[in-house]
Amino acid sequence: MALPVAITTEDKINMLMREGINKNADWSEAAHYDIRKPNFVIIHHTAQNSIQQTIRTFQLDHTKVSAHYVIGKDGRVVQMLNDYLRSWHAGRSKWGNVTDLNSVSLGIELDNNGKEPFPDVQINALLVLLDTLKTKYQIPFTNFLGHADVAPARKNDPSVFFPWKRLAEQGFGVWYDDSNLMSPPTNFNYVDALRIIGYDVSNLNAAIVAFKRKFIITDVSKELTDYDRRVLYNLYRRYF
Ligand SMILES: [Zn+2]
Repeated sequence: MALPVAITTEDKINMLMREGINKNADWSEAAHYDIRKPNFVIIHHTAQNSIQQTIRTFQLDHTKVSAHYVIGKDGRVVQMLNDYLRSWHAGRSKWGNVTDLNSVSLGIELDNNGKEPFPDVQINALLVLLDTLKTKYQIPFTNFLGHADVAPARKNDPSVFFPWKRLAEQGFGVWYDDSNLMSPPTNFNYVDALRIIGYDVSNLNAAIVAFKRKFIITDVSKELTDYDRRVLYNLYRRYF
């Protein structure tokens, strides 16, 4: 019996590239191109108990999940896929009119079980990595998102412990101006505002909970209170 032949990364990429050639069209190769760049970053918590467990999960055949980077609690950054490859981290997802986030994003997993704070050393390592990626690929600051932002009905990561305000202060993502929380006008349509920010509002309750987990933190109920509406209006006015 023949031993299985190990497939190299190069073989695998060549195999995948062939799927991009349309057999029903003539072929005449153009001379000018490069490789498509990531335009979003999606942040996750692993919901696992160690970085070793996560690395193993992303290498096992049956799991069908991966990420470009995993960051340990000690700030160790492990890259698991080339930035130019399509990792399987976002799954079924939507942000604005983008319906396949995996195709346009980098996935970063933080080793965290979802019920604990993120150590400073881990967040500092994340900020350094984000800075590198933002500069290298010219990723717009509004395109640094959480998994729950792009899959609100399925996902809740990163948890309420994740410091989105600190990230926004460093130029990754958005935050509201808490010194100027005006009441919205009576005709303010909060569903439209959530949609314009990017949320998939087809499951409105899920979108509201995702919004509140990120910006309100202390209350993640599915009702928008007067205060929540002020925050939403402020974000909407500020960025969109
Ligand atoms: Zn996730």
